[in-house]
Amino acid sequence: MGTAMQGLAFDDILAALATVPLHTDDLVRLRDWMASINHPGECLALIEQAAGTPPCPRCQCLRVHRCGHASGLQRYRCCRCGRSYNALTGTPLARLRLKEKWLPYLQCVLESHSVRKAALAVGVDRTTSFRWRHRFVRGAMHERPRQLSPMVEADETYLLESQKGSRQLDRPARRRGGTAQRRGISREHDCLLVARDRGGQTADFHTGRGPVTATQLEACLRPVLATDALLISDSAAAYKVFARRCGITHEAVNLKAGIRTRGAIHLQNVNGWHSRFKTWLLRFRGVASRYLVNYSGWQRVLGDRRLNTPPLLLRAAVQFGK
Ligand SMILES: [Zn+2]
Repeated sequence: MGTAMQGLAFDDILAALATVPLHTDDLVRLRDWMASINHPGECLALIEQAAGTPPCPRCQCLRVHRCGHASGLQRYRCCRCGRSYNALTGTPLARLRLKEKWLPYLQCVLESHSVRKAALAVGVDRTTSFRWRHRFVRGAMHERPRQLSPMVEADETYLLESQKGSRQLDRPARRRGGTAQRRGISREHDCLLVARDRGGQTADFHTGRGPVTATQLEACLRPVLATDALLISDSAAAYKVFARRCGITHEAVNLKAGIRTRGAIHLQNVNGWHSRFKTWLLRFRGVASRYLVNYSGWQRVLGDRRLNTPPLLLRAAVQFGK
């Protein structure tokens, strides 16, 4: 394909293709490609279906007028405040174009394609591919467990802080790949806090740079822990302080003493999640700190396997914040 085919009529391309001997691999690629093509109206229909008749995003009023279409979507007008809007207003997908390519792009999100590979697969430029990745992921990852089941493992993992893509660094540049200036966990590391219950539900938080504090643990974990929760962590002081302060039952695994497990008291689920996340992250060749939570959210959505088709991902993103 490529530029040589530009300007050819569809009939010519089809005629040319008919003369090519197709091998099994070629047939598989052709079928995959066919399967990825959607009717242009399909995405629009899924969006309208997922949104229903949305209330006014400004005043939540349910009394609305329908007033024509724009970019293929029904427009509404609020009877109370007069605001015009559509099914995507207030979601991360608002004002994104080329909706006929969204479903194939979401398939690339499910397959964790690089920005470049996804751009090639659906025929958008790389800037668009990058923007879409973060909008779609942010839209889908808001679906998260409100509360974890009672037995919860919590632990942090640290990633070297990255200002990839930023024009101005707030520190001297590192050599490519990069190693920290200081040993151990410091302000050069981003802290990703992960809590997992024994049913496999996951909650993830980027707490900022440096070691996690009791105050951060309280802000992140308290809302997702049940009142009868048993919190399992390593022996870091921050967890003890947080658990005591909030009256949460707490068991610590003393990893430093070489004790990894005491019956059901272990961190194997959360540490398994960390290691899968870090392995998965390698394909992106470094991610900027400001997007870290998008990547952990993306990995959470993939790991949950509930939103495992493009229409389900799209539905979650359309229902963002609703
Ligand atoms: Zn209104």
